[in-house]
Amino acid sequence: MRERSGSCFVQTPVQLPAPLSREKPLPPKRTRTVLGDVVHVTPALQARARLLAHQLERDIAGALRRLGTEAMHAYLHARLANPPSAAQSASLVNQILVVLRLRTFAQRRLHPLLVNHGARVMADTQRTLQVEIGLELKIGEQDAQAIMGAAGKDFRAPDIEPQVRAAIMAAIRDGFAAGEHPVKTARRIQAYVPAGRFVHAGPAYRAKLISRTETLNLQRASTLAAYESNASILSVQIRDGLLSDSDDACIERDGRIVPIGEAGAVQPLHPMCTLSFSPVVSRETRIVVPDIPPSLERVPALA
Ligand SMILES: [Zn+2]
Repeated sequence: MRERSGSCFVQTPVQLPAPLSREKPLPPKRTRTVLGDVVHVTPALQARARLLAHQLERDIAGALRRLGTEAMHAYLHARLANPPSAAQSASLVNQILVVLRLRTFAQRRLHPLLVNHGARVMADTQRTLQVEIGLELKIGEQDAQAIMGAAGKDFRAPDIEPQVRAAIMAAIRDGFAAGEHPVKTARRIQAYVPAGRFVHAGPAYRAKLISRTETLNLQRASTLAAYESNASILSVQIRDGLLSDSDDACIERDGRIVPIGEAGAVQPLHPMCTLSFSPVVSRETRIVVPDIPPSLERVPALA
């Protein structure tokens, strides 16, 4: 108990019971000696990731919708300027792509969203972990620069161009097959472009996929950078495969403990992978952990 001083406080000494010793031996079956405690931060991180991804999802969906509308107008413009015989040609699609200026779209609309999101996720993760673990954590300047630099690296113009091109082609092809008026085909383009290759799942799914994958990547990088800043954390426990539809590879690695320096090499196996890292907080002396929960039974011997 913390000592307090002050004139209005206890006047006479109070006999306190002896504190319970953590070194007190427990029945052999239920004890295991470890170098430190695993702090289970995964539920808190997952809850924050859901909230953060939801904010980004709305922004991404809005940007993709605007791109669809611009593609619709670009198509109508190109259609008017070309003879009907060119209605299905690749050059018509190229003309639309020139008008869309995807490089500018990625740099001016998508990239700022993702970089802002990177800063938000980094600050949020540092704060969440400090509360959960109770240790001082401060992501270093160099790590912060690297995390921000990597934000949105998979969503640059060369990454999105093939999907935009394919969506416009598909809309024109479907419109032509249906023998419809160009205005109706333009509406198809407006609908197909935001969905990209997720023709059936639709644009909402695409925005969710991008935002969740991006948020989880940023959160993982921020987590490891935060752990690196405190000398009490020398290793991490891998948590993955906790969802009901997890694949075997994710389930198999759950619970393994790796040194902090090697954790960055453990990569997500698939988009929206919920791989996360719990810190192993080292103690000066070996402590006895009673009653190991079932999820830790698979942990190999500690280094
Ligand atoms: Zn996974």
